[in-house]
Amino acid sequence: MQEPIKKIMIVGGGSAGWMAALIIANSVKDKGVEITVVESPTVGVIGVGEGSTPVLKKFFDNLGIQESEWMPECNATYKAGITFDGWSTKAGHESYFHQFATMVDNLTLPVFVNNVKARLRGADVCALPNKFFLSSALADGHLAPIAAHHFPFFTTYGYHFDAMLLGKYLHKKALEMGVRHVSAHITDARQDASGNIAAVVLEDGSSMEADFFVDCSGFAALLIGKTLKTPFVSYADNLFNDAAIAMPSDIGDAIPTQTISTAMKHGWSWRIPLQNRFGNGYVYSSSFTTAEQAEHELRAKLGLLESDTQARHLKMKLGRVEKHWNKNCLAVGLSQGFLEPLEATALYLTQMTAAIFCLFLEKGDLSEQAQQVYNQEINDYFDGHRNYIIAHYKTNTRTDTEYWKANAANLNGIPDSLKHIFAAWLEGRDLGDEIRRQDIEKYYPIGSWYALMAGMGLFPEVDARAPDSGQDKSNPLGDFIPRCALNFKDHRQVLADQSKMR
Ligand SMILES: Cc1cc2nc3c(=O)[nH]c(=O)nc-3n(C[C@H](O)[C@H](O)[C@H](O)COP(=O)(O)OP(=O)(O)OC[C@H]3O[C@@H](n4cnc5c(N)ncnc54)[C@H](O)[C@@H]3O)c2cc1C
Repeated sequence: MQEPIKKIMIVGGGSAGWMAALIIANSVKDKGVEITVVESPTVGVIGVGEGSTPVLKKFFDNLGIQESEWMPECNATYKAGITFDGWSTKAGHESYFHQFATMVDNLTLPVFVNNVKARLRGADVCALPNKFFLSSALADGHLAPIAAHHFPFFTTYGYHFDAMLLGKYLHKKALEMGVRHVSAHITDARQDASGNIAAVVLEDGSSMEADFFVDCSGFAALLIGKTLKTPFVSYADNLFNDAAIAMPSDIGDAIPTQTISTAMKHGWSWRIPLQNRFGNGYVYSSSFTTAEQAEHELRAKLGLLESDTQARHLKMKLGRVEKHWNKNCLAVGLSQGFLEPLEATALYLTQMTAAIFCLFLEKGDLSEQAQQVYNQEINDYFDGHRNYIIAHYKTNTRTDTEYWKANAANLNGIPDSLKHIFAAWLEGRDLGDEIRRQDIEKYYPIGSWYALMAGMGLFPEVDARAPDSGQDKSNPLGDFIPRCALNFKDHRQVLADQSKMR
């Protein structure tokens, strides 16, 4: 029997630290566990990361926090999905939408898949995801994904938010739940004879003890990396981007409900709408361009060449630790690893890492075997998401720079899982069967894989003799989706109404 945990120390007060604090505090509520977040007064938070997946809603729902409470405080907006502009050069596929799956898709996804299969056989039919998903129509119309109460389907959506404000909000909520906050800079950690962490050492020479430590120290990885020397698995062979630039711009009149990811010369740029501004950024590879050139390219795109708007330059380390839970330490957030933000999955992985750990905590099972099972599961989450991101680069058809050519040609250990998906697609087999066979639907649903492969236009030339060539080329769903969209209201109006409810 292990001793029950009584004192948990979370090192770091970024989004990951406060999110972990809230998830753990909620899980051990009324069990007499003391949770303390220790945060350096001199090392700031990374302060970027403004898009989410739909799973973030579950985080707030589990804590009983209403959208009308947290969204206005964080300048948050709704997100129906992501448009990928310029990743493909195939005619008709220069821009495509990756939808967040909603209930209506149960009706439209099979129609999309049928058309994709016909197009794979060479038939000249529509197979662009944008035409088949409600969330795409919502994004096109700047509509909030909150349906009128008489609409009989629920919608799934993510959020955009101000990263700094979200951190402050989570901090406030964690204190309300009894989490303690200590402002102190950690210089070292002491281990006991078994290698477990016994205490962290502060700048003034004093130390703080705990039974269990959660490393949320960002890329510094103070405990999981520096102290425990947990091996790191780099993703750099497959994902070349290692730097980013972030800068704001004016939001304008309409507030979009989508992130736009645009292919740039040596990476891609994000455009994230908040209530009061756009968050923009350029994720690029420093092996192919310099920080100055990248900033110039981003400014030119945003029309900010003459502007004195400050740009923030960031370095990124892509990969993951081998063990997210090592001895009496759990790594959560950037300390455990990072995938580039193409699908805005970092906070999602943070949430899953903390929530799945809590299942073991609640059972009181902190055994070696539990650690192994847990680490395998979180590694699979990271690698599963990595594979979907690699697929964007591998399927690009740009030839304008060495960066894009190198990405398409890259064969550095393309994971087997991805090879099988590409093979199934190219052989015209059912992608759903392959995804179910690999049991990877929990990372990205079948509709997402179809959207990516079809969105990029990975089809053979049109063949007039294909068996389905007589199919109606116009939108096979008729006006079903536009009529569904009539049940949704203007995004800016919905956000304004929400603010009045506070
Ligand atoms: C370019 C870019 C874009 C991104 N976009 C997205 C996105 O769209 N969606 C998404 O979900 N995520 C995104 N992310 C990731 C997201 O920013 C992070 O996952 C999130 O902010 C959590 O960061 P963190 O809390 O792990 O680290 P940080 O914010 O870096 O916090 C680290 C904390 O550790 C503390 N600390 C450090 N050293 C010490 C010390 N010695 N003593 C005491 N405390 C210390 C610091 O004070 C700080 O409080 C993006 C990241 C990057 C780089």
